[in-house]
Amino acid sequence: ANPVFADLPTTVFETMSALARAHGAVNLGQGFPDDPGPADLREIGARALVTGDNQYPPMMGLPALRQAVAAHYARHQGLDLDPATEVMVTSGATEALAGALLALVQPGDEVVLFAPMYDAYLPLVRRAGGVPRIVNLRPPGFRLDEDALAAVFSARTRVVLLNNPLNPSATLFGRDDLEMLAGFCRRHDVTAVCDEVWEHVVFDGAAHVPLMGLPGMRERTVKIGSAGKIFSLTGWKVGFVMADAALMRVLAKAHQFLTFTTPPNLQVAVAHGLAKEDATFQAMRAGYARSRDRLAAGLAAIGYPVLPAGATWFLNVDIGALGHADDVVFCEDLVRRHGVAAIPVSAFYPDGSVRSLVRLCFAKSDATLDRALERMAGAL
Ligand code: PMP
Ligand code: GLN
Repeated sequence: ANPVFADLPTTVFETMSALARAHGAVNLGQGFPDDPGPADLREIGARALVTGDNQYPPMMGLPALRQAVAAHYARHQGLDLDPATEVMVTSGATEALAGALLALVQPGDEVVLFAPMYDAYLPLVRRAGGVPRIVNLRPPGFRLDEDALAAVFSARTRVVLLNNPLNPSATLFGRDDLEMLAGFCRRHDVTAVCDEVWEHVVFDGAAHVPLMGLPGMRERTVKIGSAGKIFSLTGWKVGFVMADAALMRVLAKAHQFLTFTTPPNLQVAVAHGLAKEDATFQAMRAGYARSRDRLAAGLAAIGYPVLPAGATWFLNVDIGALGHADDVVFCEDLVRRHGVAAIPVSAFYPDGSVRSLVRLCFAKSDATLDRALERMAGAL
């Protein structure tokens, strides 16, 4: 068997959710909200399933959804995308990531990655034949730095894969960080794949800056989004890819033989959702910010050092500061003995060099968060 995949452990998200089920734990591990998601979108999706067209939609996505994507990103991020040639619908951001790497990376090409990184990235880069060049970002700031970038970019760099906002650190990279990275992309003629699935889940009045919008990046950025995150419907697996038309022609070749298309009823519902008024997205952010604050305050009150969380559904606690040397051991104990599932952040560092952080998902009801807090008090 291919060792890239045969030697991999099962993803930490599945492992932790299985442990949570086995131990009847409160699951703050895998990132998903515990409410059912927007009722109107679910109704539109259901109606389209019953009365709509259920045969193959066009390979690039339903025209109505591609238009909605272009209009949405024009309104929210000032991007100017041609829905006919620069937008593609995929089966989740995961397919978009796999397709982009298969399409852009040739064996031996170097790919710059940042840790902590979403656990799908490295196996996909390796399977595409890429040679990973990893920059470790360090807590508590997780900032990009010029020297670290200079050390990994070279004439062999083909792609840089950035996740902004960054899961699991909940960091939002702003214009200065992105401008620094864009400079390296321009100077080394590198394509940026920017996983922006958390773009709408940003807090404290901050605005998400799309890498694609920076000078010189329009033609060299593949922007990836996910309806699962925008609408709190993680099981839907409807993603979008945005790229300049020339780049998109190559990306579409990968998509045509990965999934070819995505369920049409979900596309209909997502098109509706993207057109919703700004207040919808503001209310979503305000709701998650309240949950973040509730969990952060509760954790601080029982003695956990909490790192700042500017985006995503996650916050991190510094168990190293409490004298715990190993996040995996801590999380196993937490789920088995105390009934709370969490994610050890070392799973996002390929070299395992950061073992002091534990990620908790706050996209949950107050009652769920409070139950987790009661149990976590006993784990200190
Ligand atoms: N990238 C990141 C950074 C994510 O956090 C996730 C999901 N949590 C994905 C990609 C996958 O998105 P999707 O479910 O749309 O495939
Ligand atoms: N993205 C989600 C998280 O970070 C999990 C996705 C998955 O289970 N693969 O928790």
